[in-house]
Amino acid sequence: MNEFKICTNCVMDTTDPDISFDKNGICDHCKNYYNNILPYWNTGEVGNLELRKIIAKIKKEGQGKDFDCIMGMSGGADSSYMLHIVVKEFGLRPLVFHVDGGWNSELAVKNIEVIVEKLGLDLYTEVINWEEMKAFQLAYFRSNLPYIDIPQDHAFVATLYKFAEKYKIKYILNGFNYSTECIINPFEWRYYGTDLAQIRDIIKQFCQIDLKTYPFSSVLYHKFYLRYFKGIKVIKPLNFVPYKKEIAMDFLKKEYGWQPYPQKHFESRFTKFYEGFWLPQKFGYDTRKVQYSSLILTGQMTREEAIEKLKLPAIDKTELERDFEYIANKLGISIEELNNFLNQPNKTFRDYKNQVWLFNFGAYIMNKLGIDRLKRS
Ligand SMILES: [Zn+2]
Repeated sequence: MNEFKICTNCVMDTTDPDISFDKNGICDHCKNYYNNILPYWNTGEVGNLELRKIIAKIKKEGQGKDFDCIMGMSGGADSSYMLHIVVKEFGLRPLVFHVDGGWNSELAVKNIEVIVEKLGLDLYTEVINWEEMKAFQLAYFRSNLPYIDIPQDHAFVATLYKFAEKYKIKYILNGFNYSTECIINPFEWRYYGTDLAQIRDIIKQFCQIDLKTYPFSSVLYHKFYLRYFKGIKVIKPLNFVPYKKEIAMDFLKKEYGWQPYPQKHFESRFTKFYEGFWLPQKFGYDTRKVQYSSLILTGQMTREEAIEKLKLPAIDKTELERDFEYIANKLGISIEELNNFLNQPNKTFRDYKNQVWLFNFGAYIMNKLGIDRLKRS
């Protein structure tokens, strides 16, 4: 085991097994930000002009159609603020959809409603069959992989492309932004949520029922077929405008009565449990390090503040006990069974069938072409 080391510039550390440091102790995540993201990231005049050009194109191609673009709405700050901008400031007509995987917090449901309603939009909700979702999630628990959020994530991606195809929508709006996500979870922590070879292996080995209605989408289908043959494009509007988390959340509160969550991604009760407890406890992966480091690099948090916050667990003890019970009950297992999963030996994607070579190859090409500037592998 290598010695524990933390970056001198952000709070990423050797819990990312692939991290490397330069002679000043600065990590490769920081380096990627300074070299590959910052020089190309423009939220001033240049960015604004570029976004306006894209918006004009989206509007023109959407003439006569019910919608000119599509976006998913989680109720989190990023998607909420993006929806506000594109509708109010740019006059786009998005199909707004939400995937109900059974884990929405009441707050998330309310946040989605207030914004969608005030903007006069319809919400398309895709409800995932709960018995299937539950069985799929339990299969991931049994696999002892860190990626137990894949059943939720994958349903979102598949639903997005299903709607895009059904309504012949060419533009997908994505709330991803460098401001709060210039560092993404290290490769070992997240893997690829659309590796169907792996997903099918997990289902075959550990899933107790057939997933008849759960929406699947292969990367070959959505990344290659839909993007290159059907010409579907993904736009990330928040990267072209000034976007600061605190300011955006204050604005959403005042304008829409939107309410903040205690932590990023906590709009889903499952993701809260997964990121706030399961990943750090079972695997030693604390996603706050990634979130805080992104905020440090973009000047929205100090390193000292992040270090202080990281001393406390993401979910306090009493709340955790409640959450633990809630998760076990909802999954239809006992607290003891859930605890047993926690204590089983951990596995990585290498322990199951996978197409990592294909995904890494794709990521390499996207980086080389400058289409993707994030450090994905
Ligand atoms: Zn760093």
